[in-house]
Amino acid sequence: KDIINCRDTIVGIDTLVKNIYGEDTKYINFDNAATTPPFKNIFDELEKYMNYYASVGRGVGYKSKISSDLYNKSRQRVKKFFDINDERYTVIYSMNTTQSINILANALVKSKKDIVISTRMEHHSNDLPWRKYATVKYVEVDEKGKLKVEQFEKLCKKYLGKVKVVTVTGASNVTGYINDVHYIAKIAHKYNAVIVVDGAQLVPHKKINILGSCKEEEIDFMVFSAHKMYAPFGTGVIVGKIDRFNEKYPFISGGGTVDIVGHDRVFWLKAPKKEEGGTPNVAGVLSLITAMDDMENIGLDKIELQENLLKDYFTEKIMKIPEVTLYYDPDDKKRVSVCCFNIKGHRHQELAEYLGNKECIGIRTGCFCAQPYVKKLLGIKDSDTFIFASDKSLYTPGMIRVSFAFYNTVEEIDYFIEAVKRFIKITADKK
Ligand code: PMP
Repeated sequence: KDIINCRDTIVGIDTLVKNIYGEDTKYINFDNAATTPPFKNIFDELEKYMNYYASVGRGVGYKSKISSDLYNKSRQRVKKFFDINDERYTVIYSMNTTQSINILANALVKSKKDIVISTRMEHHSNDLPWRKYATVKYVEVDEKGKLKVEQFEKLCKKYLGKVKVVTVTGASNVTGYINDVHYIAKIAHKYNAVIVVDGAQLVPHKKINILGSCKEEEIDFMVFSAHKMYAPFGTGVIVGKIDRFNEKYPFISGGGTVDIVGHDRVFWLKAPKKEEGGTPNVAGVLSLITAMDDMENIGLDKIELQENLLKDYFTEKIMKIPEVTLYYDPDDKKRVSVCCFNIKGHRHQELAEYLGNKECIGIRTGCFCAQPYVKKLLGIKDSDTFIFASDKSLYTPGMIRVSFAFYNTVEEIDYFIEAVKRFIKITADKK
């Protein structure tokens, strides 16, 4: 029933782990929204590259030139991944999405008098950095957890002239909802603000159009992490408009960011270099562009189809278990492959521990760095730090999250569903 089978492109997915009966079992990874395992090709590319390993942009030796060339050309490759052939856009590398957003918050906001419009759906990484530099106003979500999109324009009008940035997640790491970023871009531009899209959960799942179908729809800044798209940790990306980095002191200043430095004067380089202080991570960047090659070779359309199949199949099966409460709209077919739920009468950690310890299945539970959003979906107050269990003991609020990648299979989901049923039965028997 699977649409593709590309398991052999990925490292370590058939790792054997001892299960409850002491048998060797294949580990099932349903925690891809946190981090995806890397492509095998990356290790071949890194091995070849190690022969030319040298500092980027700092030496004139043969190896240094090769490293620098690779690093500089990679920006073009990243732009090609989004079909951008436009000099107004550059690619800035960071450590991860969080650092990318911190760089943007520093660059795009002048003072706390500036307003940034964000949403109640955001990951903490697309909320807290903005709070540091600006006054943040939030677009609310409805009872299903979907954005009240009409509020973007209302807030822009209310704070007319003060709104500098509108920021929104491309896809939620909790509900998987995809937001209409081009529509939101049009509103931001109408009120002279720029739009920043947190693409951490969007870019790994489908072909993304940054430019939209007209100038008004352009996404000014898209950020994402390599470790969520089959490359190792340590590389974050900003694809964004180069002219917006001219005014402020860079977020990370130091070597590599400057042209001329005197005791009392500094002339910064232009972006991207201005925002990439310190020795660049060329191995990380090589890994990222190799992952992009591999994703394109598999086909972004096929990746999307397989993940859609998995999440729809999962939803159909899990909904049949009466004890399950879902925290997303099962009829929304446009979501990315992130599915959150709870089992009535059980703390979220209990199932996660059972699956991890007894069934060799990796998932995540908790609030997924989106506490306000998760609490809203759970129907508890923002100020509630703990909730009462049925036995009156206290526990931290949260949900169970499974998230699929293209290499997961229908068979793995079948196994998972049976494991959940076993958990429910075992715990009921104990009572
Ligand atoms: N935004 C979203 C929507 C995410 O899911 C994540 C990762 N969980 C981040 C931002 C932060 O990404 P990173 O940890 O790579 O900085």
